[in-house]
Amino acid sequence: MTSPIVIIGAGQCGARAAHALRENGWQGGIMLLGDEGIAPYERPPLSKAVLLGRKTVAECAIFKDAFFAEKGIELRLDAPVERVDRASKKVLLRDGSAIAYERLLMATGAAPRSLVLPGATLEGVHMLRSVQDALTIKQVLDVGKRIVVIGAGFIGLEVAATAIVRGCVVCVLEAAPRALIRAVPEAVAQAMVDRHLRMGVDVHFDVCIERIEGTARVSGVKLADGTFIGCDAVITGIGVFPRTSLAQEAGLDIDNGIAVDETLRTSDPHIFAAGDVCSFPHPLFKRRIRLECWRNAEDQARAVARNMLGHAEAFDAVPWLWSDQYGTTIQIAGMPAQGATTVVREAGDDARMYFALDGEGILVGASGIGQAGQIARDVRIAQELIARRARIDPGVLADRDTKLRSIPTMAVQ
Ligand code: NAP
Repeated sequence: MTSPIVIIGAGQCGARAAHALRENGWQGGIMLLGDEGIAPYERPPLSKAVLLGRKTVAECAIFKDAFFAEKGIELRLDAPVERVDRASKKVLLRDGSAIAYERLLMATGAAPRSLVLPGATLEGVHMLRSVQDALTIKQVLDVGKRIVVIGAGFIGLEVAATAIVRGCVVCVLEAAPRALIRAVPEAVAQAMVDRHLRMGVDVHFDVCIERIEGTARVSGVKLADGTFIGCDAVITGIGVFPRTSLAQEAGLDIDNGIAVDETLRTSDPHIFAAGDVCSFPHPLFKRRIRLECWRNAEDQARAVARNMLGHAEAFDAVPWLWSDQYGTTIQIAGMPAQGATTVVREAGDDARMYFALDGEGILVGASGIGQAGQIARDVRIAQELIARRARIDPGVLADRDTKLRSIPTMAVQ
């Protein structure tokens, strides 16, 4: 009998890949190994709907309880993997058992960076990645509570928005000179920060934190310039790192994540990697990238399942991500940071689109901020144009009276 396909990581990518293997006709065994003790769930609601009490943990499940049995997927939720033995094609679990694999998918995701500062382990200092983290933080966000959020990335700003809606007093401290510096163009990030300021969030950039103050519990945050900010709780969102240690110990190539080729295959032909943990050469942008977002986990799950079954298709989806804060949405398609010039297009009220063109005038990124209904369609069309490597006249692109769909473009190979 053939060994199963084994998937390490029962997150968004691993769970979707298991499903996609069945959808693509794999009739052998599928084993999905997780270590969180909970069935695969969606993370995007954790910083928003779950903290607001508008969604329960059960409602975050990716699949219904019966799904895995129905599809013949063996789901093990408390099965931490100790080692991958490539020579014998076995996964060794912490409990001492070994599972032989036909093909292996590493969908081990990313882990949050911990604050390394005096006082960082005090009670009342939290990070947000898992369901358990979200449930703990939900208890903290009471009316009038003073919350310091460290990091003005996606987690930091989404939590700040949620905390304000819950009636907290919120201060955001960011080390960088601006918010959302990794993925979002400055004008878009600034518009979102302005929204936070209007909602009463106190936001500080270029901040150097010296220590978290408190005895057993946190009482405040001390900055290097001597400022003390009193608070009842600290929530950190200071980035993540790819969980590569199993791959590294197995001797797989690592390059800002598990290095895979354009078909998401690692340096071992029997092992693939997908989602937050892998870096891959993107054919459109002609460089190796690693993406930390929900949509990429979904898209790569489908692609890697097909490739594990022998399709050998290059993964070339245009990156896309979104963030909702106070009913304002940011959507980003492509790689705006690769643009040489930016073209702005008004999208009604306070809504705007920003298009990034490279040195040859080819569209490489598009960002929108506003109500979802004002920008989502244009971002979606832009995504298609980016995929076609369309060269677009900037004047026409800026003119909101010309429908994006009708703009004449020239595809560049
Ligand atoms: P992030 O978006 O990378 O932002 C972290 C921010 O914290 C960065 O600006 C970082 O600055 C800053 N920082 C790092 N150390 C700091 C310190 N000691 N003091 C103050 N600021 C510090 O990461 P995240 O917000 O933690 O989110 C975690 C992951 O979840 C990311 O992969 C993110 O994409 C994902 N996520 C996505 C969404 C979405 O797509 N809507 C929502 C939530 C989370 P440096 O860059 O200088 O380190």
